[in-house]
Parts: sequence; structure tokens; C-alpha cells
Amino acid sequence: MKDLHTENAGFLTLNAGSSSLKVALFPADGDEPLLTGQADRIGPDGTLKLKDAAGDAVEPAPGDLTSHAGALAVIIATVKRVFPDLHMAAVGHRVVHGGLDHAEPVLVTEEVIAQLADLEPFAPLHQPHNIAGIRAAMAAFPGVPQVACFDTAFHRGQPFVNDTFAIPHRYYEAGVRRYGFHGLSYDYVTGELARIAPHLMAGRVVVAHLGNGASMCAIYRGKSVASSMGFSALDGLPMGTRCGQIDPGVLLYMLDREHLDTSQIRQILYNESGLLGLSGGLSNDMRTLEQADNAQSHRAIDYFVFRVQRELGALAAVMGGIDALVFCGGIGENSRVVRRRICERLGWMGIEIDHNRNAENATVLSSEFSRTTVMIVNTREDLVIARAARAAAGIFEEAEA
Ligand code: ADP
Repeated sequence: MKDLHTENAGFLTLNAGSSSLKVALFPADGDEPLLTGQADRIGPDGTLKLKDAAGDAVEPAPGDLTSHAGALAVIIATVKRVFPDLHMAAVGHRVVHGGLDHAEPVLVTEEVIAQLADLEPFAPLHQPHNIAGIRAAMAAFPGVPQVACFDTAFHRGQPFVNDTFAIPHRYYEAGVRRYGFHGLSYDYVTGELARIAPHLMAGRVVVAHLGNGASMCAIYRGKSVASSMGFSALDGLPMGTRCGQIDPGVLLYMLDREHLDTSQIRQILYNESGLLGLSGGLSNDMRTLEQADNAQSHRAIDYFVFRVQRELGALAAVMGGIDALVFCGGIGENSRVVRRRICERLGWMGIEIDHNRNAENATVLSSEFSRTTVMIVNTREDLVIARAARAAAGIFEEAEA
């Protein structure tokens, strides 16, 4: 049995998106990765950036970035070059959909992969890439435990009223439910709050995960009770290119009047909507929109802020009030403008932010007069996955011993 606590044990976390692959290599102990990397635009124009623990660029090994497997091979070759003595103890994967069965991370077996593959129709743009990442890592590290960590897991156990749609009940039975996503982020934020502000975690918290993907979650006494995302990663808030909440009548209009087929509608809803669509194609990126400061960008930002406020009211109502609002994700952690605009009309909710703290991206943003605490937690989905991988490697090695 290998000693997991030697400095040579490594834990790789993988987050495979449709055309991206984010990786982080963790040591046996500690929260800071030894190496992080991101492959983007995987395909003919693929790029890969790697950084060491000090934040300095690491030259990737030569190789091809036209597929996820290719990108992973380049990353692994680089890891082997930089850390020749390292042995990979476990690999953790972000998997968007765990269905009804998985409320916790799980050690990957062929049976688990088959279960996850059955869920592909529920998350067609993410699940196949997640599975491809698992397969690539299994081939690269034969015999090394692979752990799947699910974005849906945190929300399992939500009350029926938030888990269902008001359509014939047979759909619910068939798994057409409000699963909710971004669970790894909510898991991390909940853990951090329990550590730094346990009195808040014992109460009513709304977490706003505002990134390129965006959702919000009502967390009552540490448990998810409602979330803005539902059956797919399309629902709720507008996102970089995804539409967020939409009247299903609009889809019927696209089908009946425009005669679009499902792949055309999918393309519109997932890739041409959200901030990009609202801004008339200007950008899906909040930073670019803030800098543009024109009629198109205002349209997009105004709508984004409006929907966050609206969702916040709904989620607070579900819990009978709110003790804390927590921002995370790229926009939540960095955009002073968006946070200020969201909070400026929330006095009725006991929310008042201190503008200096907001300008500094401080951990606590609320003023001393604010009844509700407003905070930023820099989310770490990679760390949630790394911890699960470490735990699973421990279990695995015990079972082998
Ligand atoms: P993902 O969901 O892909 O992980 P992120 O959480 O990294 O995305 O969030 C990306 C979003 O955060 C982009 O819209 C980006 O413009 C925005 N963002 C990052 N930094 C800033 C900043 N300083 N000001 C405004 N928006 C920012």
C-alpha cells in the first residue's frame, strides 16, 4: 500500500467543458495546487495555459490540443516532466449530472459510467464531455481511483415543491425534475461559511454564484431548499450565452412560427442568448460589457441585475427571510458595479453595503447598519473535488490493504 501522506502523492482534478478543460494538481495535504491549467477552444485553435504554485507560467509539453484526450495527454506529460517522482493517488472529476442516485461523490466504475451515460439526455452539452474526461483519465492512469463529483448532489433532498414542474406527474417519475446545478460551488461556500460565520450558516442564506454560468441557491441551516436552476443548466438567471428563465410559449413560437428544429433552438438558448444575446452580439463577458458602457451593454447588465434581484426576493421568501447574501463566481467575486447595482435597491431586505468595502472586494461588504450580512466567498470547486479525491483514495487504499 502506498503512503498517501508522502509528499509524492498527487491528486488531479478535472473539469471538462464542451471546449475547455480545467485542471489542478494538488499535493497530499493543503489547499493550494502545485499546478493549474486551462485548455480552451479545444480543436484546431486549441490553447493551453499552465501555471505553477507561484503563478508563473509553465511551458506545456508538445502535443495536440484538438481533443480532450489530447489536451489531457499534454497536461500529464507536463506534470511528469515537472514532478518526475509524483505518483497519482486519485483523480477527481466534475460531473454536471448525478441524477437521482448521487447525493455524494462516487468512485467511478463501469457501472457508474453507464449510469452517467444514461443521464446524457438531461445534460447533452456537458455530460458527454465529463464522461470523456473520465475515460481519458482512466486510460492515462490505469488502476488509479477516479472520483465523480456532481453539480446536482448538493440539491438532492430539496422539498417536492422545488423539485417538480406542474406538468403531468409521469414526467416527475421519469426523472424530469428540478435538479439544480453549481452544487460544488455551493458546497464549498457552505463549508466556508460554517467555518468563518457559523451563526449565519445556522440561518437563512442566499448564495449568488454569478459566473459565466450563473445560479442562485437558498440554503436553510446548511441545506439547499430551492435554487434558480432547474432541469437543465438553462433555467433561472441569464448567463454569458444562456437564456435563463423563459416562458415555454417562446419555444412553441420558435417551433410553430419559425419552424426551427431542436438543434437550432438549442443553439439559440445555450449559445446565442444571455448577455451575448441581450447585448446584440456585443459580448458574453461582463468585464467587456462594463467597459463598453453603451446602450447594448446597458441592456444586458440591466437585465442581469434585474433577474438577480427578482430571484433573490423569491429565494428569501421561500425561507421566510434572509440572514446573509453571499456572492461568488467571476462576476460575484470581482464586479463591483454589478454587486453595487444588485444591492442598491435592497434596503427593504435589510441590505446595505459599504461602498468602500465593495470597491475593495472585501469579504464582508455589508455596512454596520445592514440587518443582513453581505459577503464574498471566493469559490473553489477544484478544492471540493480534490478533497473528495483524497477521501476516496483513502477508502480505496484501505480496501486494497
Ligand atoms: P465560469 O462560469 O466559466 O467558471 P467565471 O466564474 O470565471 O466563469 O466568471 C466569468 C465571468 O466573470 C465573466 O463574465 C467575466 O467577465 C466576469 N469577471 C471576471 N472578472 C471580472 C471583473 N473584474 N469585473 C467584472 N466582471 C468580471
